[in-house]
Amino acid sequence: MRVRFWGTRGSLPVALTASEVRRKLARALLQAQGRQFQDLAEAEVFVSTLPFATAQTFGGNTSCVELELEPPGQESHEYILCDLGSGVRPFGNRVLARHGPKTPNVFHIFMSHLHWDHIMGFPFFTPAYIPGNRLRIYGCHAELETAFRRQQDPPSFPVPFDYLGADIEFVRLEPGRRYDIAGMRVTPKLQLHGGDSYGYRFERNGKVVVYSTDSEHKLDGAEETEAFVRLFFGADVVVFDAMYSLADAISVKADWGHSSNMVGVELCQLAGARHLVLFHHEPVFQDSKIAEIEAETRRLEALTRQDAPELRVSAAYDGLEIEI
Ligand SMILES: [Zn+2]
Ligand SMILES: [Zn+2]
Repeated sequence: MRVRFWGTRGSLPVALTASEVRRKLARALLQAQGRQFQDLAEAEVFVSTLPFATAQTFGGNTSCVELELEPPGQESHEYILCDLGSGVRPFGNRVLARHGPKTPNVFHIFMSHLHWDHIMGFPFFTPAYIPGNRLRIYGCHAELETAFRRQQDPPSFPVPFDYLGADIEFVRLEPGRRYDIAGMRVTPKLQLHGGDSYGYRFERNGKVVVYSTDSEHKLDGAEETEAFVRLFFGADVVVFDAMYSLADAISVKADWGHSSNMVGVELCQLAGARHLVLFHHEPVFQDSKIAEIEAETRRLEALTRQDAPELRVSAAYDGLEIEI
């Protein structure tokens, strides 16, 4: 199984600014220390040795994560996604580039919730306009279909929902129940967030991926903590809402519906998870800040590890792929 991140930013899409790009270039030139490069390929090799936050970017698209079940290179027309933030636009373009516009494809889409940053990419998801494609949109909210229709109602968008050519079906799931969907065992779980959100545990052939974004953890009730430990239990990858620092999460931004990197480490350690992926980055944070949080989280993990095997920690970026 492969987890591919198309959008990793929280709340609102952001782009690198001119001054941030200039700063990255200046840092890279300083690191080059008079080196000469014969061609672009040689320069790219050097760039690949630079720190991630200098040479690349975590990206600015909002939540969209793909689960790919087939081995690399195997042709498939069935896709699995979590959330439809602005990251679904480049995902849709890749599907078109792969198969062209005519091939029928099936998309299984699991919605954490219906806040705008998680549905805003849908009107720009080109495969939804192509007759023959099938979309199954799963979620636990009663307003699942209404939210998608409403964002395309006038005067908010020029193309109404009914104009979409694909066969689109909304499927309501019940939290706590196990389902067999798209060759996986899927269990949704209610999370603490304004208007509720739902995390998902996906299991297939002994591999487990958890998608848990837009979720605040109080960690003051044993029962609630245990419920999340069960959701994360033995997971190969946990995609975790780490929008805030712990200090913010428990003080000024308490009750804002998001969590911190520290809580992510604690829950993953309790659950024996293998890889914590920090997700839903605060839109204010520049690349250097997200890299700092990633490094700080790794230090915390090492300090609190005790006898357990290492919990890998990564900050998600648009384009990250994790093979499990
Ligand atoms: Zn969000
Ligand atoms: Zn939200």
